[in-house]
Amino acid sequence: MRTPEEYFSDLKKMKKNVYVGGEKVGRDDLRLMPGMNVMKTTFALALNPDWEGVMTAKSSLTGKKINRFTHLPQNPWDLMQKQKMIRLAATRVGGCIQRCMGQDAIVALSIATKEMDEEYGTEYHKRFMAYLRAYQERDLAGACAQTDTKGDRSKRPHEQEDPDAYVHIVEEKSDGIIVRGAKVSITMAPVADEIIVVPTRALTEKDRDYAVAFAIPADWERIRLITRPAGLRERKKFKCPYAEMGVAESVVVFDNAFIPMERVFMCGEWQFGRRLALLFADSHRFSYTGCKAAVSDILCGATALVAEANNIERTSHLREKLSEFVGIGELAYAAGIAAAVYGEETSSGTFFPNLIYSNIGRRLMGENIYHEFNILTEIAGGLAVTLPFEDDFLAEETKKDLEKYIIRNPKISYEDAHRCWRLIENIAASDMACWYQIAGVHGGGSPIMETITLNIEVDYESKKNIAKYLAGINEELDQSKELKTKPVPLEP
Ligand SMILES: Cc1cc2nc3c(=O)[nH]c(=O)nc-3n(C[C@H](O)[C@H](O)[C@H](O)COP(=O)(O)OP(=O)(O)OC[C@H]3O[C@@H](n4cnc5c(N)ncnc54)[C@H](O)[C@@H]3O)c2cc1C
Repeated sequence: MRTPEEYFSDLKKMKKNVYVGGEKVGRDDLRLMPGMNVMKTTFALALNPDWEGVMTAKSSLTGKKINRFTHLPQNPWDLMQKQKMIRLAATRVGGCIQRCMGQDAIVALSIATKEMDEEYGTEYHKRFMAYLRAYQERDLAGACAQTDTKGDRSKRPHEQEDPDAYVHIVEEKSDGIIVRGAKVSITMAPVADEIIVVPTRALTEKDRDYAVAFAIPADWERIRLITRPAGLRERKKFKCPYAEMGVAESVVVFDNAFIPMERVFMCGEWQFGRRLALLFADSHRFSYTGCKAAVSDILCGATALVAEANNIERTSHLREKLSEFVGIGELAYAAGIAAAVYGEETSSGTFFPNLIYSNIGRRLMGENIYHEFNILTEIAGGLAVTLPFEDDFLAEETKKDLEKYIIRNPKISYEDAHRCWRLIENIAASDMACWYQIAGVHGGGSPIMETITLNIEVDYESKKNIAKYLAGINEELDQSKELKTKPVPLEP
């Protein structure tokens, strides 16, 4: 496993292909550091003995100890450890741990490549597993590029006015393929070693060229990352872990890029477009039952802390509001546990979470994210957005005023009160606040996407049959299938 320093040193060696604010920059650009710090945390925690078995796992390919972010879950226990890892690690970085993106992509490809081989006699699985072996051994971090620019939402890829609205194959050669198009909203691309590309939607025969999946180093020839980093205003004196973290989303442009065949994992199998797209999305929705529970933990903790600063800790409305965070976060986490326990083994051996529980967990969080921020805002009061800058707390002329007037609860020191309010400003009224709100709604798929999956997966007719039985319309209620449903053993 790599150390955080080794990871950073490898990244610094990459070719310059990142553009920020109109400038071509290296991976050591300061605006990329907050996202890089999140990624470094995933390497540091894996080397910490306290996190053994949570951040680490035994590789199903080599039997060696690996970072769990490079692991393919093999049973429900593995899935629960993954969920726990994401939740705990997310609280260290203030929310999004980012590296799950690559893990969900490798999970999806391990399953889809096997199924394509079974259907068409292709050799994608062997090829992908060889890639994965190196991925695990080199302890790589992958970004997943799924979301296409999509153009007109009412049209399929082949119907779009601009054929590049979805990433597609331009040419097939004996040793590889040429691809063109762009993926948008791609988290962590400039701080990732690899970019893993999968389709974004169901495809028809006419969309054949859009059925493409591959993985390439993030600085590959003819690939440009147009990046929007988000972070917090730099602290001068009152430094803290939260202020060191951030993200970076990119438009990833594939400008007739050549992808060598050993890195191509789908090439024209349009029938599997939907399957592969959903395998990534559903695995990622399961990941959200870990990280969104952490976002609830953070918002709940910040609300409790600011209530103490306001000296309103004993009010009954506060206790009621704090319990709402728990009601949302723990319910989503419980959905993740249920998704693990009622998951299923795929023909590849990768264990996959249950779709219904993963989707209800993610949708619950997506629908409640603004409500959770609202609770924090209500308890914090307006200072969250009107707090003077840190510089004013440090400047000779204004320091004394602010030190005196920031204190509300006499039991809290000036410095702790200031740190508390600064954190509340960072969490509730910053670029990152907006990022977490919109990521909460759309990341992993907007609530409508979960609804679509649920409407496919749930058998509403069987529920109607319950009503028919209770109404006396049907005499019998056949529940033989439900009676046989049982969770799989946690460990094989
Ligand atoms: C912070 C953040 C990070 C992200 N990181 C990544 C990443 O790392 N990798 C990645 O691949 N993607 C990433 N995404 C993209 C994310 O998966 C998408 O935002 C999400 O799937 C919604 O797609 P969209 O943004 O294209 O919205 P749209 O597809 O435009 O959807 C907007 C709305 O259109 C309607 N709509 C669209 N399609 C349908 C339909 N078929 N049926 C009914 N209604 C529909 C719905 O009302 C939907 O809510 C990220 C997004 C965010 C916000």
